[in-house]
Parts: sequence; C-alpha cells; structure tokens
Amino acid sequence: MTYKLPDLAYDYDALEPHYEAALLKLHHGEHHAKYVKELNATLERLAAARAEEDFQSLVGLEKTLAFNLSGHVLHSLFWKNLSPEGGGEPEGPLAVAIDEYFGSFDKFRQQLSQAANTVQGSGWGALAWEPLGKRLVVEQIYDHQGNTGSGSLPLLVIDAWEHAYYLQYENKKSDYVEALWEVVNWKDVQQRFERVRSYVLV
Ligand code: MN
Repeated sequence: MTYKLPDLAYDYDALEPHYEAALLKLHHGEHHAKYVKELNATLERLAAARAEEDFQSLVGLEKTLAFNLSGHVLHSLFWKNLSPEGGGEPEGPLAVAIDEYFGSFDKFRQQLSQAANTVQGSGWGALAWEPLGKRLVVEQIYDHQGNTGSGSLPLLVIDAWEHAYYLQYENKKSDYVEALWEVVNWKDVQQRFERVRSYVLV
C-alpha cells in the first residue's frame, strides 16, 4: 500500500477570502503532494536497504521518513480542520476541556496563535491531546516532526511554514493566522477529540 494525496472536501476557492484559491491549490496540489511522493519513495528505499542488507544510509532515510510522514499527516489533518462553514468557537466537551486546561477559549486561542506566529524557521502550532496525562496541550512543532511529546495526538493544527501563507499574506503571518480562525472546522476538531479521549497509550 502506498500513501495517497487526499481530496479536499471543498473546492479550492471555498475558503476565500481567508485563503485564496491559488494559494490552496499550490499548497495542496504541489506542497502536500510532494510529501506524499517523497514518503512513498522513502519507503521504497527502506525496502531496498532491507533487501540488500545495506543500512549505511539508514540514519538519513529515517530522518526523511519522519519528515515526509509527519508532513503528510499534518497536512491531511490541516485540510480537515478547515471548512467554508467554519469559525466561531467549539461546543460541548471540547469547549469544557479547553476552559479546564487553558483557562478560557480566548487564552487558548492566544497561545495557539502565538505558537504559530513565533515558531523559528518552519513549523506548526498544534492543539494536541496528551494521552499519558490525559490533557490538552498546545505544541510548537518544528519542521513537521520536532518538539512534540511522544504519543501526543494533534487535533487542530496551524501550518506556519512560509509556503502556507506567503502568496497571499506575504510577510504578514499574524494576519494569516487571524484569518484561519474564521474557517476552523470545530465540528471536525470536536469529533477528533471525542475519538482520542479514550485512547490508552500506557
Ligand atoms: Mn504546508
């Protein structure tokens, strides 16, 4: 089985004006597609290494696997996190949990926005479920795979790579992050939260 680029649940122009069609098309059709292609190629190179019992390149291959696999996972999640009918605030148990772990929705929103805005180089801001302590945390991810707790399950992610906003927002990254809140698909985040809450890691 090879990994595939997922279709979006909406058209490329559906998130306008918050996220322009040209930017979404480039981001999904080129950037995300490249992670999928590289991920499948890396799995093939690992299979060849096993077949030849030649693990000289293993360190590099494992890094490349983590980078492209995480890139594919986070982008797949990011598209689900957005919707033309999005925005507003979460409801139900997720809203209660956000109040419990962050004090209020506004404080949570501030922390996640800042995690995305201040990441050095390329990365993501993420709301994640930490299954050992059974709590919500905000993580600041480096590249696609660094600076996360092992086992943390991302629920809502903000792509903070320049490729995610530059075409539309140029250097105004915080304007991009503010605009994203208008299209957050809280229904999707709530459903994911419901699914992961019973997950037993240890
Ligand atoms: Mn991206």
